[in-house]
Amino acid sequence: MSPSQTPPSPPASDPSRPLAGKCALVTGSTSGIGLGVARALAAQGADVVLNGFGPPDAIAKAQDEIRESFGVSTAYSAADMSDEDAIAKMFEMITEGGTRRLDILVNNAGVQHVAPIEAFPPEKWSQILAINLTAAFHTIRLALPSMRTNGYGRIINVASAHGLVASPFKSAYVAAKHGLLGLTKTVALETAEADITCNAICPGYVFTPLVEAQIDGQAKAHGISREAVVRDVLLAQQPNKRFASVDEIGALAAFLCGPLSGSITGAALPVDGGWTAH
Ligand code: NAD
Repeated sequence: MSPSQTPPSPPASDPSRPLAGKCALVTGSTSGIGLGVARALAAQGADVVLNGFGPPDAIAKAQDEIRESFGVSTAYSAADMSDEDAIAKMFEMITEGGTRRLDILVNNAGVQHVAPIEAFPPEKWSQILAINLTAAFHTIRLALPSMRTNGYGRIINVASAHGLVASPFKSAYVAAKHGLLGLTKTVALETAEADITCNAICPGYVFTPLVEAQIDGQAKAHGISREAVVRDVLLAQQPNKRFASVDEIGALAAFLCGPLSGSITGAALPVDGGWTAH
């Protein structure tokens, strides 16, 4: 990770930039929802640390675009969220041994694997639990000291509609996302008096590379077209019959980090077009 050269953040008193001066880490932010959330927080003035995998030039381009569009600083960590030591090193770098602040933590990195439970590869189970659930335990425990010192913190766990309801063939993902909601509630209770909030966003289907891969996989498995997978498999559950957008998720994340959200904690907020209202 290396902080990039940037203009200094404008003062926090600018009402159009309520997160100015705050530092946000968004895991899994080289793509999809995480990148959208990072952009939404930067648009409100937060300096952002990106994390995730991908071609170095694409990651550098994403950082440039965020810096130039929003006048914030950016940094990047390639830490593997399934690796406890790598997560600890990322925090050392972000906080420079506890001397720099971390205000906002968005646990977003996630992976998926779809298979009936009898055929579910045990190594995929372990990987999904590690990235989608255990990583959040590590990042939260490492972020809280800085947040408690500052008397302010916002933690957002990107769970899923699959944190609230199940679908077949997604045993590890559904178990991890349900677990993430339990972790969210526990952290909210432990931090409520410190002006630290912890909430979960529960998206329905959002069109990202993670979903794109499922469309291809299901089309092959069922011998049907991609359009039929979208209509009859994915959006069959989603009453508004459209994908949620990355910008919709980003807007909610930005609100949850802003000045008027301090009483919202321990919540699981669906952005699913009515799916979990069933
Ligand atoms: P995506 O595949 O576009 O992005 C995933 C991100 O996580 C990427 O930046 C990737 O590099 C990163 N990542 C993967 N493994 C990692 C690891 N071991 N260490 C560090 N980074 C890693 O996926 P997305 O759809 O944007 O998903 C983001 C989150 O949203 C996930 O937690 C996912 O479960 C959740 N979600 C997605 C949808 C959807 O429909 N797309 C719906 C509900 C919840």
